[in-house]
Amino acid sequence: MGEAQGDIAVVGLAVMGQNIILNINDHGFTVVAANRTVSAVDAFLENEAKGTKIIGAKSWEDMIRKLKKPRRIMLLVKAGSPVDQTMDILMPMLEEGDILIDGGNSLYADTNRRAAKCKEKGIHYVGCGVSGGEEGARYGPSLMPGGDPAAWEHLKPIFQSIAAKSDGEPCCDWVGEGGSGHFVKMVHNGIEYGDMQLIAEAYDLMHKGLELKHDDIAEVFANWNKGELDSFLIEITANILKFKDESGKTLLPRIRDAAGQVKSFTRTGKWTCIAALDYGQPVTLISEAVFARCLSALKEERVKAAAKLKKKTFNVAELIPDKRGFIKHIGKALYASKVVSYAQGFMLLREASKEMKWNLNFGAIALMWRGGCIIRSRFLGDIKKAFDTNPELTNLLLDDFFVKALEEAEHSWRVVVSDGVKLGIPLPTMSAALAFYDGYTSETLPANLLQAQRDYFGAHTYELVDEPGKWVHTNWTGHG
Ligand code: NAP
Repeated sequence: MGEAQGDIAVVGLAVMGQNIILNINDHGFTVVAANRTVSAVDAFLENEAKGTKIIGAKSWEDMIRKLKKPRRIMLLVKAGSPVDQTMDILMPMLEEGDILIDGGNSLYADTNRRAAKCKEKGIHYVGCGVSGGEEGARYGPSLMPGGDPAAWEHLKPIFQSIAAKSDGEPCCDWVGEGGSGHFVKMVHNGIEYGDMQLIAEAYDLMHKGLELKHDDIAEVFANWNKGELDSFLIEITANILKFKDESGKTLLPRIRDAAGQVKSFTRTGKWTCIAALDYGQPVTLISEAVFARCLSALKEERVKAAAKLKKKTFNVAELIPDKRGFIKHIGKALYASKVVSYAQGFMLLREASKEMKWNLNFGAIALMWRGGCIIRSRFLGDIKKAFDTNPELTNLLLDDFFVKALEEAEHSWRVVVSDGVKLGIPLPTMSAALAFYDGYTSETLPANLLQAQRDYFGAHTYELVDEPGKWVHTNWTGHG
């Protein structure tokens, strides 16, 4: 038998690489394991990969030799310059038709650039979003591959067999050209930030607002997980809320309330906000979620401000006599806000798809997120149905199912946001969602005044309502 037995090589033997390799091996493919520091390959083969068909690469040349053609190489190295550095080493060793996949959390613009560079050499480049963390990588991630379409037929059998399944369908499909796979993964991560913050606000309303015990809040979340809010994040939140430390007390209050290293850890969330601004889309909820993490990090300042600025809030017993009823309102407000968050995420995807000519399939994207990843939920099945029924749907909020859902939730949503404000509980994402809903459903907005102000101080001109297309300037001051 020749040396070239490997179906695919995976470069990078940290958490993600090791687990994806074991997953691919479980599905009957022969994987070549490679890493910049070769000792990690030996350690992997002697431990986690012992007794498997996994082959180790002693060098880059050895990895290339051990692969069947066209060669398939998946990078799972640290995002950023390590991807370029590894590509610089590998590119001269590759031949036309070989396939290079970046499975890390790369910025889509970098993927666009790398794809173009590979195209010049006839190498098929794929940027693949991988979600689900360690557990997903090992037993079924959500995979979002995009790039050179010629690569897909060579990757499909491997990727769709290792991906998570939802109702028997793989949570992996071809996304589109260039950096579209990484763009979709970036928006996924942004939505994850939004979902997490919404849940945190629901918790705050019950904990600080209604003064419920953690075990009781855990029960609320566990019940929500049996209905329309059924999702991985709601499930783990219930588990976290009831988790006890060694002394038998709830662990959560002992955890410092400051998101760590926000400058680096908000990376994909921050990119989503930047992309939203670049594409002119009002992705307000995710942006508020990112800023909520930044605000949380100002712990010392917040402590000082809390002592100095004494809030005059309403009395909870007087404001909310029916706690049970209010908990139901919170569940509905959470659901409605979540609908807005996903609608905004898909607005961004739609605009990017249009500008970049990616021709994204939104139903397929919803299916990719339906299982395997952190935002997996029952709700994504409803989103898939909405886009399957009408692939040209302008906005998720206009789908009949969601129109009805929002109609049913609207009263609760307004009660929760307004009572939250009266209690002094910050609800940046729930209130941003409601403000967006009110703006999106407003036939007229006060932007006429903005246009007038811009014309007043900057002679920017404004368009007349009764003469569309006619832009005029007014001499507002009467001065010459
Ligand atoms: P990581 O900690 O991000 O990266 C470690 C790996 O990168 C090691 O194999 C390391 O090799 C390699 N590396 C670092 N600098 C390098 C360089 N200059 N040249 C070549 N290789 C270099 O690993 P990870 O957590 O498994 O994540 C891998 C990718 O998946 C990242 O892009 C990450 O953002 C993404 N991701 C991670 C998760 C997660 O839950 N961890 C989830 C989804 C996506 P050495 O051993 O030689 O240092």
